[in-house]
Amino acid sequence: MIQEYQLRVLPELAANEQQLKAYVAREKGVNIKSINAIRILKRSIDARQRTIFVNLKIRTYINEVPQDDEYTRTIYNKVDGKKQAIVVGAGPGGLFAALKLIELGIKPIVVERGKNVRERKKDIALISREHIVNSESNYSFGEGGAGAYSDGKLYTRSKKRGNTEKILNVFCQHGASTSILIDAHPHIGTDKLPRVIENMRNTILECGGEVYFETRMDALIIKDNEIKGIETNTGQTFLGPVILATGHSARDVYRWLKTNNVAIEAKGIAVGVRLEHPQQLIDRIQYHNRDGRGSFLPAAEYSFVTQVDGRGVYSFCMCPGGFVVPAASGPEQVVVNGMSPSNRGSRWSNSGMVVEIHPEDFPEYAQFGELSLLHFQEDLERQCWLQGGMKQTAPAQRMVDFTRKKLGNDLPESSYSPGLIASPLHFWLPSFISDRLSKGFQQFGKMSHGFLTNEAVLIGVETRTSSPVRIIRDSETLQHITVRGLFPCGEGAGYAGGIVSAGIDGERCAESLAEYLK
Ligand SMILES: Cc1cc2nc3c(=O)[nH]c(=O)nc-3n(C[C@H](O)[C@H](O)[C@H](O)COP(=O)(O)OP(=O)(O)OC[C@H]3O[C@@H](n4cnc5c(N)ncnc54)[C@H](O)[C@@H]3O)c2cc1C
Repeated sequence: MIQEYQLRVLPELAANEQQLKAYVAREKGVNIKSINAIRILKRSIDARQRTIFVNLKIRTYINEVPQDDEYTRTIYNKVDGKKQAIVVGAGPGGLFAALKLIELGIKPIVVERGKNVRERKKDIALISREHIVNSESNYSFGEGGAGAYSDGKLYTRSKKRGNTEKILNVFCQHGASTSILIDAHPHIGTDKLPRVIENMRNTILECGGEVYFETRMDALIIKDNEIKGIETNTGQTFLGPVILATGHSARDVYRWLKTNNVAIEAKGIAVGVRLEHPQQLIDRIQYHNRDGRGSFLPAAEYSFVTQVDGRGVYSFCMCPGGFVVPAASGPEQVVVNGMSPSNRGSRWSNSGMVVEIHPEDFPEYAQFGELSLLHFQEDLERQCWLQGGMKQTAPAQRMVDFTRKKLGNDLPESSYSPGLIASPLHFWLPSFISDRLSKGFQQFGKMSHGFLTNEAVLIGVETRTSSPVRIIRDSETLQHITVRGLFPCGEGAGYAGGIVSAGIDGERCAESLAEYLK
């Protein structure tokens, strides 16, 4: 017999299978010897009260042996000799599009400007060690896209549960832990993601797809409002319909589209700083315990959101037990982001703290039309580079000092490996952003006692929260509104915000492309 139960138990019990079996036997009146296995189906932490509970949904195999797989496998058949389609960009949008094309019997040709995910790692190390940013291989560019060296958080606001589960199952099929199917806030971790990405690439290659690294799309070939293919910096031409999944940092792509009259529009983004606290402090606050999280609870997370003077101010991409990383994609930029390993074991927690901005908030950039907020991002990232000493050193300020408009010269220890330099962020960040951040922090400090503290440090600047441009597509066919056969996809096109939603969008674009080929 198979029985499913909802349980609410203490963390130490949730972490121990034998104790869990004994508990189920006792509570549900089942003979413990008849329980062959327990499988956890869903897990979430309830930290609202002083006593922390873990909510579990479990499947109990009573006098039965588990036969069912822990995840659902997708069948990928050979596509050699089949019709082909081009996927530009090997981020989650592009990779999931390519895999879906294979499912649909279409051969994907994946073209990626950066290096493969292992080679890329060396360039990422150089940013921290020698302050050298390779414009084609960095935290944004290369196999796996912007998400490859990230926390690998896999939660999404997408309401389509089936689509989300498909993406998580494909990750499991390629080597991710099945805990991502269980946890309320699943994440893979920066140490595990590269292997998963390599396995996804191998599936594409084994099925007869093609993958080209260090090959940048430099132009789309468009005739009579229909896409014919792409040209690359390697002198190659690839023919076929195109899924354009180039991410939010491919500024050259946006510029090419504007110059060549392929319709795009300006889009709002969110801009601010990375905020870093000691993880112990966040554990103490979130778990209401002076001793921190103990042995059975994960590094605590937080999430804040408020409205200040008509704009949202919120935490973004929180990385418990993580690191702040230098995420610039070109010279003369300082941009920060966050990541964490699978064990979330670092001494720090960090999160983007950002203010929502709209193109009309900065009229001085209106002259750049569709690229207005892209220019705003570029200027702010350059300003940050200047403030940081023209290296990858990042300007930083303690949290309370920022709200009091005070520059203190000593900074706390930080996970940001290129180093910090004390800087009056309150002074040089646009006041539209700094005033709202300051008021937001004061509100968050009231909501959560101890959060607003000088033990925390603000690190500038977080500008790449989403795309400042939308590549306009038809909501039904997902084709570009004027160019047939062109499928703007994922975060860079303005239709996703995160790994899972980019993956979902990739799959949808592949399905629409299959319809187009019919
Ligand atoms: C440090 C960091 C941490 C993050 N953490 C998380 C997280 O924990 N959870 C989460 O959900 N999201 C996270 N994100 C955001 C997430 O990575 C993105 O939302 C997601 O990767 C978007 O997917 P995408 O495929 O649309 O674009 P991208 O991932 O940006 O991929 C675009 C790809 O296109 C390539 N490309 C660009 N231009 C060209 C060209 N002209 N020719 C060929 N190739 C090109 C790029 O090299 C890149 O590989 C993080 C981002 C960063 C930078």
